[in-house]
Amino acid sequence: LRANFSAIYDEEDEVTGLITVLSDVTEQEKVEQERREFVSNVSHELRTPLTTMRSYMEALADGAWEDKEIAPKFLSVAQNETERMIRMVNDLLQLSRMDNKEYSIYKEKIDFIAYFHEVIDRFDMNIPEHITLQRELPKKHYFVWMDKDKMTQVLDNIISNAIKYSPEGGTIRLRVEKQRHRLLISIQDQGLGITYDKLDKIFDRFYRADKARTRKLGGTGLGLAISKELVEAHYGKIWAKSKEGKGTTVLFTLPLMNQKRGDRK
Ligand code: ADP
Repeated sequence: LRANFSAIYDEEDEVTGLITVLSDVTEQEKVEQERREFVSNVSHELRTPLTTMRSYMEALADGAWEDKEIAPKFLSVAQNETERMIRMVNDLLQLSRMDNKEYSIYKEKIDFIAYFHEVIDRFDMNIPEHITLQRELPKKHYFVWMDKDKMTQVLDNIISNAIKYSPEGGTIRLRVEKQRHRLLISIQDQGLGITYDKLDKIFDRFYRADKARTRKLGGTGLGLAISKELVEAHYGKIWAKSKEGKGTTVLFTLPLMNQKRGDRK
C-alpha cells in the first residue's frame, strides 16, 4: 500500500486540511517485476543460441570451412540453433498477441473423440519406433465448442513433450474421460517425471526442469505456457501429475456442449 499526502492551504497559507491517497501498489509492482523478469529471461534465452552460433561461425571463418568432416557439423549446429530461435520468437509473438488480446479464436462444434483420433493418427505416422501410443478413448460422440487449430497446438505440445521425455520402449497413454459437464483429457508418459515442487512451474514462461537437457532437445520453455493460455481460452483447466522416475501425466479439461440443445454448458 502506498500513501500520498497533500496539504490543503487557505488564503493565509494555513494548513486547513490533508488529503491522503492510498493506492494498492503491490499488484502493480508485482506486474512490473514480472515484466522485468520476463525481459531478462528473453534476453538470456536469445543470447545463448546467438553466442553458440557466433563461436561456430568464427571457427568456420578461421579455416574449419575447409574441413570436409567438421564443416557440415558446425553448419548443422548453427542451423539448429537458428531454427530454435525462430521457434522461440514465434512463440513469444504468439504469447504477446495473447497478452494483448490481439488474437482470434474461431470456435466451432467439434466431435472431440473423432478429432483426437485424427491428431493421434498424425503422430502415429512418424513416431520413433520404440514408442507406443495407446488410446483409451470412449466410443461415443462428445461435442465441444473449440478452435481446432488452437487445440491442435495444445495437443502437439503435450504429446511432443511426452515423446521427448519417454524412455526407450515407453508407452504413452492418451485418455479421454467424460465427467459431469466436461471432458478430462490426459496424456501419460513413462519418463523420468518431474519433482513435486516443480509441477506447477512447468506452465510458466521459460521454465524448464532441466535447462541444459531441454535445450539440447530443441525446447523453448514456452510450449506449455502457450498451452495453458489456450486451454483457459476454452474455459478449461490444465495441470500435471508426476511420480519421479515413473512418469508424468498432463491433464486438461474442456467443457462439454449441452448434447441436447447444442449450446455450451
Ligand atoms: P520445452 O520447450 O522446454 O519442452 P515446455 O513449456 O513444453 O517447454 O515444457 C516446460 C518444461 O516442463 C520442460 O522443459 C520440461 O522440463 C518439463 N516437462 C514438460 N513435459 C514433460 C514430461 N512429459 N516429462 C518430463 N518433463 C516435462
